[in-house]
Amino acid sequence: MHNKTIAELSKALHQREYSSVELTRHFLERIERHNAKINSFITITAETALASAQAADQRIAQGKAGPLTGIPLAHKDIFCTKGIKTSCGSKMLDNFIAPYNATVVEKCQAAGMVMLGKTNMDEFAMGSSNETSYYGPVKNPWDTQTVPGGSSGGSAATIAARLSPLATGTDTGGSIRQPAALCGITGLKPTYGLVSRYGMIAFASSLDQGGPMGHSAEDVALLLNQMAGFDQRDSTSLNHPAEDYTSHLNDSLAGLKIGLPKEFFAEGLDPEVGKVLDTAIKEFEQAGATLHEIQLPHSHLSVPTYYIIAPAECSSNLSRYDGVRFGYRCENPKDLIDLYKRSRGEAFGAEVKRRIMIGTYALSAGYYDAYYLKAQQIRRLISNDFVEAFKKVDVILGPTSPTTAFKIGEKLNDPISMYLSDINTIAANLAGIPGISIPAGFVNQRPVGLQLLGNYLNESRLLNIAHQYQQRTDWHKQTPANFV
Ligand code: GLN
Repeated sequence: MHNKTIAELSKALHQREYSSVELTRHFLERIERHNAKINSFITITAETALASAQAADQRIAQGKAGPLTGIPLAHKDIFCTKGIKTSCGSKMLDNFIAPYNATVVEKCQAAGMVMLGKTNMDEFAMGSSNETSYYGPVKNPWDTQTVPGGSSGGSAATIAARLSPLATGTDTGGSIRQPAALCGITGLKPTYGLVSRYGMIAFASSLDQGGPMGHSAEDVALLLNQMAGFDQRDSTSLNHPAEDYTSHLNDSLAGLKIGLPKEFFAEGLDPEVGKVLDTAIKEFEQAGATLHEIQLPHSHLSVPTYYIIAPAECSSNLSRYDGVRFGYRCENPKDLIDLYKRSRGEAFGAEVKRRIMIGTYALSAGYYDAYYLKAQQIRRLISNDFVEAFKKVDVILGPTSPTTAFKIGEKLNDPISMYLSDINTIAANLAGIPGISIPAGFVNQRPVGLQLLGNYLNESRLLNIAHQYQQRTDWHKQTPANFV
């Protein structure tokens, strides 16, 4: 059951080959057997999962089911789940039981999906390796000595190890696409505003975007159908009419114009990853696409720009954790200031503190113009690069990450080198455009991800291109040896 596509699972449920309870038990057993090896779950919700599976079976029996009714999934522990611990990977929220559901969680529930649990993540989604989690690092199922990427590393590893067929993630600077690449799965970051941020714990609000993760473009399209949609409770939600993201999967790629930005194939790219990409590019050519060299002249500024804007927004968003209303509170505070200082000092990890300090500094009166304002201006230039590029090409292709998975511990004490893992993903967040990472091959048995970036609201086209590639290749079907 754990090697089936969502369409196959859905068909089997509707034809009563097996029930959602049986399917859910199967995945819960796998989680029990394998989770200790990879640490991809923070919370496993076996009881509520079986109850929702039972309800899904009834719905199927009554003929009231949709395509995702009875299908299991895991939510990144950044999405609030009513009555269930929602930690955001932090000691700060280790004791936090969310009093309400995120819109994304609600929508999946309404579809009759079965939540298996909450996945591990970098603390407050700050990281590229899942090593900043209060709950310990997640391990990459392809090689448990290596990282799964981050911050949605728990979701990516869960899918790669076949502990859940689908998961949600969030992407502020690459956190869906980069772990998808490192774990050999498919992950989509939608256009900013397409998926509601209500109940999604805020890191950097102008960049944060939730999205679907799964084995294939087709699976991911089915989950996006549920996740997307206008939400009055999110002030930046897009009022975009609902689409069926599966409806263009089978369109031909003949005449597709693919842009290859030379900046994505530059220095820093592992030459072996480059070779994998070259092979993939030939596949697209055979499918009828044409290749065009393009430029994204400001892309070299995306990492420094992001590391002003994201910390600035995080320093403001994380000021709500004060030890007073919810979350961690220190023991025996002397006075109010001591309560603030020690609660925050004791419960935030090093990376979160580093970002709050950078952000507070960048926003301070004397430096605002030099850093924050300047970063906002460059952000516009980076967006304009894409506007220009999409006048010439339909889609932009490159490596999701310049390297494959690195060793646990390797970059932990070198924040700059860690920040550079997202060099190809961050610009899409600054511009708000959609991007997808799909498996394209291996280097030394470690997966390589290929990234496709599209124009605003071109999710359907991205999924179509990814699906056509997946019809011609089987990289997305590979399973790590210890998790067959
Ligand atoms: N790795 C980037 C960071 O640490 C992106 C994280 C994310 O997308 N949530 O901020």
